[in-house]
Parts: sequence; C-alpha cells; structure tokens
Amino acid sequence: MEARITGHTGLLCLLGSPVGHSGSPAMYNYSYERLGIDYAYVAFDVKEDQVPAAIDAIRTLNIRGGNVTMPDKIAMAKAMDELSPAARIIGAVNTFVNDNGRLKGYITDGEGYVNNLKDHGVDIKGKKITVCGGGGAATAIQVQCALDGAREISIFNIRDKFFDRTLATAEAIRRECPGCTVNVFDLDDQALLTKEIQSSDIFCNATIVGMKPMDDQSVVRDLSAFHKGLVVSDVVYNPGETKLLREAGEAGCQTIGGKGMLMWQGVAAFKIHTGMDMPVEEVRARFYS
Ligand code: NAD
Repeated sequence: MEARITGHTGLLCLLGSPVGHSGSPAMYNYSYERLGIDYAYVAFDVKEDQVPAAIDAIRTLNIRGGNVTMPDKIAMAKAMDELSPAARIIGAVNTFVNDNGRLKGYITDGEGYVNNLKDHGVDIKGKKITVCGGGGAATAIQVQCALDGAREISIFNIRDKFFDRTLATAEAIRRECPGCTVNVFDLDDQALLTKEIQSSDIFCNATIVGMKPMDDQSVVRDLSAFHKGLVVSDVVYNPGETKLLREAGEAGCQTIGGKGMLMWQGVAAFKIHTGMDMPVEEVRARFYS
C-alpha cells in the first residue's frame, strides 16, 4: 500500500457512524491495487449532524467520491447537487462522486439486490415479487425492482414507524413506474401474506427478522406459502442462512442469501467511482466466501 500512494493518489471514503467494522476499505483498496487505479479508500466516522462539515471537507480536499452508510444516507442526499433516479425517489444515497466540486448521489443497494438475483439466474423483469419490509434496504429493493420492470410488487410491513414509509414508497412507484402494480399490506395478516407469496415468482425478506437476536424467527410462518418455482431471498447476511432460507430450501425453493447483495452493491459503486469493473470473482473469493 505505502508504495502505491503518491502525491497524485485520489482519495475516496466511507462516511457513517460507526464505520470501524466495515469491509469496504479492504475490498476497494484491494480492487484499486489489482486494477492499477491510483486511488486510496478510508473510512471516516461522521455523525449525522456533521454531514454539512463533511461536505465542505469533500469539496475543499477534492475527495473523489465514496460511500455512505447509516445514519448519514438521508442527510447526504439532501446535500447533493444531483441525484440518480433511484436516489431521488428514495431520498437517500449510499454512493457519491465529486466532479470538480459538483456532487452526484446514487443508491446502489437495490441494484445490488437485482444483480444478485441475476447472478443466481433470476430476472426481475415481468415478475411479481412480495417484499417484507419498509426500511432502507426494503425501499431500495422495491424502487429498483419497479425501475427494472417488475410487473407487480406486494409490500408487507408491521404497523410500526416504517408503515407510513411503505405507503409513500408505493405512491412514488405508482407515479414513477405506472406499469408496475404495487400494494401495501399489514404483515400481521399472515393469511394474506401466504396468498400473496403463493401468486409471486420471488419473495424477499428485507426486515431485520432472521438477524440476531431474531435469528430463531422468520417473517413467513405458514410454510404452505413456499410453492414450486418460488425464489426466496433474504437481505440478512449474518447468519448466511436464515431460518427463512433454511425452511424455503427444505420446501424445494431456490434460495438466495444477502451476502451477494452486499457484494453487488459494492460492485455497482465501484463502477460509478472508477468507470471500471471490479474484479468480481477475486473479490468474491477473498471477501465473500
Ligand atoms: P431499517 O431499520 O431501515 O428497517 C427495518 C425493517 O425491519 C422495517 O421494515 C421494520 O418494520 C422491520 N422490522 C423490525 N422489527 C420487526 C419485527 N419484529 N417483525 C417484522 N418486521 C420488523 O433496516 P435496514 O437498513 O433496511 O436493514 C434491514 C436488514 O437488511 C438488516 O438485517 C441489514 O443488515 C440488512 N441489509 C442488508 C444489505 C445487503 O447488502 N445484504 C444492505 C442493507 C441492509
């Protein structure tokens, strides 16, 4: 690394809090080195109220771009000069570039989900998907699926603080993607969840259920929902195989875990930052196996 960094090296960064656990610096620096790109990537702990100062620093220090994690995604979106279509609809960014002081924000979580499906031979175009969740990951997935031509999206959420956000997401999708039918339901109505999954091609859990301390739980309690031909996916990546995926797999469904989504959202961000393709197979073997 020290031999690589010169007075010309461009700096990219991760902004969020906490960031110390992030695997992004290792993955991006490895990829820059492999491809001979003169960039370095570091993580900065930036609290939400520090975002305006961070934006000033990005412009002053000519930081080339970077990524954004919780809790800064919404404040960063508000500070951008321009937003990608998905970032504008969602109102959050996880990737940005600095083009001579002009900042453009993107959100690649949804692209990561859709490309992870593709990596497993599944195309969202023309499909019906049922998604549980209304938070950051769920919203990005719902919007990207609509932008990429999903026929129908059924959204389920418990009646917590995220429920209104699911209604707003559905409205935004109806406005931006009129060809996609979207409906919102209460996750407590398990009979309706079963019915919607039974008429879906793809099911996605984009809630925190399945992750510790809820790793002994699944959003799908009636296993008759798992019909032949259904693809069952989870955004939770720790554990790699959630209770949902285990039960769906036992019922004969194709299952797709959240680790790939994590990798593919990074691949999409890398392309935005560098214009180049990340060495996916090497990155997968080194950081995601
Ligand atoms: P968030 O806090 O924005 O949203 C949480 C969601 O979980 C909401 O829809 C909420 O209603 C739901 N929820 C909470 N408790 C629940 C319960 N008891 N029953 C049913 N639903 C419940 O979180 P987020 O940032 O969207 O993250 C959600 C999950 O996605 C986390 O496990 C996170 O690690 C994972 N994630 C994965 C990736 C990836 O690339 N694979 C990316 C982002 C997030």
